[in-house]
Amino acid sequence: MPEGDTVFRAARLLDRSLSGDLLVRSDFRVPQLATTDLAGATVTGTVSRGKHLLTRIDDPTREGGSWTLHTHLKMEGSWRVHRPGQRWQRPAHQARVVLETARAVAVGFSLGIVELLPRDQEDDAVGHLGPDLLGPDWDEDEALRRLTDDPTRPIGEALLDQTRLAGIGNMYMAELCFVSGVHPRTPVGEVANLARLVRRAKQMLELNTQRAAQSTTGDLRERERMWVYRRDRSPCRRCGTPVRVEMTGSAGRERAAYWCPSCQPTP
Ligand SMILES: [Zn+2]
Repeated sequence: MPEGDTVFRAARLLDRSLSGDLLVRSDFRVPQLATTDLAGATVTGTVSRGKHLLTRIDDPTREGGSWTLHTHLKMEGSWRVHRPGQRWQRPAHQARVVLETARAVAVGFSLGIVELLPRDQEDDAVGHLGPDLLGPDWDEDEALRRLTDDPTRPIGEALLDQTRLAGIGNMYMAELCFVSGVHPRTPVGEVANLARLVRRAKQMLELNTQRAAQSTTGDLRERERMWVYRRDRSPCRRCGTPVRVEMTGSAGRERAAYWCPSCQPTP
């Protein structure tokens, strides 16, 4: 499951690769857009909003020619950029969108959402999101207000709710709970310093937008990058107690929560 910083990096890659250029070819391999052809339009930019990507495409010669391509990576998706003629980095049958310019071929593989919206309807796609940890409109007070709307809610669940604040997935949830010393099931209202936790979230995501590999420990060696995420049964880096894992969430939306039973006491 991609986290906010992964999506931010995908947006930056698309923005650098496509912006300002004419599309020489577009290919939408999803049924609802199968006949759509945006060749001749110009890509004006790509931004991320939480875990959503918005690619803006314009063609002033066409009526209503101002679109936003809304995509979401969901579980397995990725955007890759190739040079024209270069072999694709993932199998062609996984491609959902191809945007080709004279200098780049951007391919969206296994995307969870692909929709083309009129520009003035972008809010329909991302208006529900809470403040974006990596967005230009970041608002810590608003994020805290939304997180504490229901003080009885478990902190792990609240952090994953993109309508509270946007950008945190399962990995950052586990890591943030660990560095804050709270069990993921701790009610939000009982988290001692929620503002500090939220500031750490922003700091972790920002640092990782600049790195080739995600790390929350600051150590970039392959097995040393995380405190508890996917480290079940390994010794806690602070106290040596074996890290635990447990499935949480409702049926069909289960997620693995990782924690150290000593550093993060059960509420
Ligand atoms: Zn520990």
